[in-house]
Amino acid sequence: MDIFKMYEKLGIEEDVYAFCEDIWQGLAQRFKKIDETAEYNQLKVIEAMHKSHIGEANLIGTTGYGYDDIGRDSLEEVYARVFDTEDALVRPQITCGTHAISLALFSNLRPGDELLSISGKPYDTLESVIGIRDAKGSFKEYGISYAEVDLKDDGGFDFEGIKKAINKKTRVAAIQRSKGYAVRPTLSAEQIGEAVDFIKEINPGIKIFVDNCYGEFTERIEPGSVGADMTAGSLIKNPGGGLAAVGGYIAGTKECVENAAYRLTSPGLGKEVGASLGILPSFYQGLFLSPFVTASAMKGAIFAAKLYERLGFEVYPSADSTRYDIIQAVTMGSKEALISFCAGIQSASPVDSFVSPEPSYMPGYEHEVIMAAGNFVSGSSIELSADGPLKAPFTVYFQGGLTPAHAKYGIMNTVQKLVSDKIIDRKLLK
Ligand SMILES: *Cc1c(COP(=O)(O)O)cnc(C)c1O
Repeated sequence: MDIFKMYEKLGIEEDVYAFCEDIWQGLAQRFKKIDETAEYNQLKVIEAMHKSHIGEANLIGTTGYGYDDIGRDSLEEVYARVFDTEDALVRPQITCGTHAISLALFSNLRPGDELLSISGKPYDTLESVIGIRDAKGSFKEYGISYAEVDLKDDGGFDFEGIKKAINKKTRVAAIQRSKGYAVRPTLSAEQIGEAVDFIKEINPGIKIFVDNCYGEFTERIEPGSVGADMTAGSLIKNPGGGLAAVGGYIAGTKECVENAAYRLTSPGLGKEVGASLGILPSFYQGLFLSPFVTASAMKGAIFAAKLYERLGFEVYPSADSTRYDIIQAVTMGSKEALISFCAGIQSASPVDSFVSPEPSYMPGYEHEVIMAAGNFVSGSSIELSADGPLKAPFTVYFQGGLTPAHAKYGIMNTVQKLVSDKIIDRKLLK
């Protein structure tokens, strides 16, 4: 049976399909490049697993204290190899990306030190960690100060500003690789390397931290490859490959990772404790799948950018720009269009396809927010998901897609929804 027949069963009309399919086909060359990066990274993961001699026994977990958990210890070795660092901490006890970042920073800063962000305002949730927004237990409360240097208008580092901001107290310089939900270019590993060299030249004692969320496996090298002292991320984003149901990682120098381990568990105990229970197979297999899952999410992002650009919407980043993360933003222009887009993602989901996303107030946000996700793992944003605040210009941010076919269908379904709701004129599909 012809593929369109299946799309038709899922509610896609012929003109929508033809329009989308034509754009998908036109991206073949782009997709080939992405697959080559995924292939490279796939081999990198396999090589790391060979070198660390992963056998069936490594997949079994421990209970209780988790002493001598060889599966956990060797997984951390595999992560260190893949992320080009001396050591790593990969644990289900690290609850999310914010926790991993907070842990890496807190454990490597001491009262009287200063944290310097050189990529401008950090991700929203870190405002409470730092104390930009008053919060119990923040750096501010511990006497750790904070300074920030914005990126330049072209999205590059402001080297002069960085040099001026560095002082005797500066202990850690932080870089956010992905734009997150800000409108600025994502930083490439190569650019990060230039900043590392620049800062180490001024003071080799300053540790460089990279928030690697959404950036893993989008390139052939990682921040550790260009000299970052530590990098951190969430396992329910790229490196968990959609299989990890919880967790976070920190990869970095022996010293930085050791500091983090003593803070995660306890001084004196460090990496030696922390039962992995039964979770290791999903961490190993998720990492193994991650290069191609990340590729699938990148294809979806490019496909959407191209589609919506063609339909006359403003998209960020633009369809033809080089990507170093998996997030795509589309300016929908109206509340109705934003809701329609999210409904399209939701009804294409494997789970909860029958629910309709509704805007609502969320703690920490000024405006109502709408979120669409029908996930196997709650809140996982490596699975196809979309959200946006209900305020002008009604920008939707979306990311993920465990397989290219799901990313493709999900995005096609947003166009279908906008056409059915008469927000997009069918004539535009010609
Ligand atoms: C998602 C994200 C975080 C926070 O991760 P959570 O798992 O949501 O806590 C931090 N930084 C960036 C750039 C992110 O994308």
